[in-house]
Amino acid sequence: MSIRENIEAIRQTLPQDRSVTLVAVSKYYPVEALMTAYESAGQRVFGENRVQELRAKYEVAPKEIEWHLIGQLQRNKVKYIAPFIHTIHSVDSESLLEEIDKRAGQAEGRTAPLRVLLQIHIAQEETKSGLSPEEFLDLIASKPWLKYKNVEFAGMMTMATNTDDEAQIRLEFKQVSDLMKEVQAKADELELPGTFKELSMGMSHDYNIALEYGATIIRVGSKIFSE
Ligand SMILES: *Cc1c(COP(=O)(O)O)cnc(C)c1O
Repeated sequence: MSIRENIEAIRQTLPQDRSVTLVAVSKYYPVEALMTAYESAGQRVFGENRVQELRAKYEVAPKEIEWHLIGQLQRNKVKYIAPFIHTIHSVDSESLLEEIDKRAGQAEGRTAPLRVLLQIHIAQEETKSGLSPEEFLDLIASKPWLKYKNVEFAGMMTMATNTDDEAQIRLEFKQVSDLMKEVQAKADELELPGTFKELSMGMSHDYNIALEYGATIIRVGSKIFSE
């Protein structure tokens, strides 16, 4: 199947009763592949996991593309993407938040606050970064939105364990979805911004499961670009 057919097939499986954003993950694929998705399927939202590769593609691709950073981000690289990035999915510490706030405030030409998702570590692999549920709840309890005014707190992101055990994947997506409900139940007390509602979860092999648990953003790479 072509890139266009792959994207159309995924769009057809998305829920009808709510809006879900499909992030086409173009990491490892050349800008030509991204342009095929852009031109033949009208895809406008793309995700990359490395700052350098994202910047290189940003320079040559059309400016109306909405760029999402989905991979681990070092503080010293925030400045390279702050002027144009739409959403950072991988915020996993307060020191990173602080840097994002600072750079978003300084970025020339940036009018909107920089949208971030707090990444939750729920998977069994040690290698996946993110906040533990406890760290997440502590951060939330400190009401960081009152402090970091150049940041839009848009919700949460997670990656499930890379496994064929569907029950395990379900358990993990449910945990994150329950955390979101827990936070929203305390919205008044937390002065939670109305923007805090996105759940970025689900990749090529598990996005259908993630959608059952309320994913509002799915991040799909290989199922679009390599199959
Ligand atoms: C690579 C990647 C994806 C996409 O993975 P596929 O299996 O190719 O769909 C999604 N999210 C993150 C964080 C990634 O690094």
